[in-house]
Amino acid sequence: MKLQTIRDEVGDCRRCRLADTRTNIVFGSGPDHSAWLFVGEAPGRDEDLQGTPFVGRSGKLLDELLRELGWRRDLVGVINTVMCRPPGNRDPEPDEKAACEPFLLKKIQAIKPVVITTLGRVATNSLRGIQMSIGEARRHPFEFHGAKVIPTFHPSYVLHGALHARTEMLHDFVHAISVLAEKGVVP
Ligand code: URA
Repeated sequence: MKLQTIRDEVGDCRRCRLADTRTNIVFGSGPDHSAWLFVGEAPGRDEDLQGTPFVGRSGKLLDELLRELGWRRDLVGVINTVMCRPPGNRDPEPDEKAACEPFLLKKIQAIKPVVITTLGRVATNSLRGIQMSIGEARRHPFEFHGAKVIPTFHPSYVLHGALHARTEMLHDFVHAISVLAEKGVVP
């Protein structure tokens, strides 16, 4: 299925209560097929206003880390576990995640990534299907629909002062890049 067909199916989605408070549905960004896909948690204020994922401070950090490693944001896919902003940036509730999950899966199947970098606990646990701390999850990459999932911290963790996490994110990105390179994927 094409991404545009999935977007059409989402329509003016009212499948969960997040529809009542969102400004824009944040479907995702990037090419139709990208070997490297990032999965975040949920849109924040900037993303809700602009309709594009990771355009706020977390997005700037993501761009910066990619640039440091010779990659560019326009070469990668970026989606979130849920497409609408939870009020006050709270965690998405289980029923909200469940409402978005079929689309998350369809998008991943359409994009056909080689590597998925999950950003933070919520995205990682959504794909793995079990609850785990992000510290633990980072030590256990897993397979999801043919892609290797390499979990890392959410950029907001670094922005909230965990500076060690920036180095660890770079380390996880280098791991992702080495898996991509093994498959002949270079920026
Ligand atoms: N945080 C996320 O998890 N996703 C975004 O799109 C922006 C911030």
